[in-house]
Amino acid sequence: MPIYNFSAGPAVLPKEVLQQAAAEMLDWQGSGMSVMEMSHRGKEFMSILAAAQHDFRELLGVPDNYKLLFMQGGAIAENAIVPLNLLGRNGRAQPATSDYINTGSWSTKSLKEARRYGNVNVAASSEESHFAQIPERDSWQLSKDPAYVHVCTNETIDGVEYQFTPDVAAETNGAPLVADMSSHILSRVVDVSRYGVIYGGAQKNIGPAGLTLVVVREDLLGHALPACPSAFNWKIVADNDSMYNTPPTYAIYIAGLVFQWLKKQGGVAAMEQRNIAKAALLYDYLDSTGFYRTKIASNCRSRMNVPFFLADEALNEAFLAGAKETGLLQLKGHKSVGGMRASIYNAMPLAGVQALVDYMKEFEKQHG
Ligand SMILES: *Cc1c(COP(=O)(O)O)cnc(C)c1O
Repeated sequence: MPIYNFSAGPAVLPKEVLQQAAAEMLDWQGSGMSVMEMSHRGKEFMSILAAAQHDFRELLGVPDNYKLLFMQGGAIAENAIVPLNLLGRNGRAQPATSDYINTGSWSTKSLKEARRYGNVNVAASSEESHFAQIPERDSWQLSKDPAYVHVCTNETIDGVEYQFTPDVAAETNGAPLVADMSSHILSRVVDVSRYGVIYGGAQKNIGPAGLTLVVVREDLLGHALPACPSAFNWKIVADNDSMYNTPPTYAIYIAGLVFQWLKKQGGVAAMEQRNIAKAALLYDYLDSTGFYRTKIASNCRSRMNVPFFLADEALNEAFLAGAKETGLLQLKGHKSVGGMRASIYNAMPLAGVQALVDYMKEFEKQHG
């Protein structure tokens, strides 16, 4: 029986990647060492790092005037690192103001963290609608000159995803757009040049926990507040090619294998087409039945994280137990939302989503 893992993160990885890592575990390409045992400054690991950086830049289409940083601490650390690096932009007096768009649990966390370092203007929020939609761009009350504007482009817990790239520069005196893309980075084509900063933890759609990716436009380096820890200062990390402190070497190695796998799949544009097909299969079924339901507006449904509910919540435990027996794992919804959640990242094949829909239909037949 095939096993399909719908975990929101840490999450499913391509089987080919895990098989290659297993084969190379004790001896990486004749070096006599596991990647875990290598000096991060030795030529073997340096080649792994360079290939991972090169492949990620190629996959996402990162322009030359952007730095790619491999950091640690996850997106939650980056929620502090962003204000620490950007609130001082253009010599602003402190405390400076930044704008946040609140679209769910993760952007709420981001803006709460930012309040520790400066003034936060919540320019728009969908909290009143229980985060079932993304506030229309026309309704955003942006500041005149914020240090930056922050969005979370895919809300992993609530299941909403931006299907547009917001333009904010004209109203904000050129403020950079900062995006937490943790749970959908490399799942769809992104025009990086529309953003000042993109960041994300690796453990959703890229690789193991422990690695954080940051893509930052060069003119945004060098504005860190004096209190910013050196290891979190983007300019210092960039000047040291992500080697200011010891990077998470094994996580970078696995991420690099995932990047090679993605290139073999045809790259991000090909992946996006598959992700559209996978999401449509699940949402079309949800829309076709009253036995299950989704609460998310149709124009902002996440292609990566699909929360759904049984109309009769008393059946939740039976649904999960039956799913597990069928090889469909980790479908329980986040405790703040309840119900179920299927995370269908890049490494989840269409066959996995089909198996889920088949099980849901069978369960409906038995209990409907
Ligand atoms: C998982 C997640 C986070 C938190 O990541 P950590 O690695 O735990 O810091 C933040 N934002 C989004 C959108 C996420 O999906």
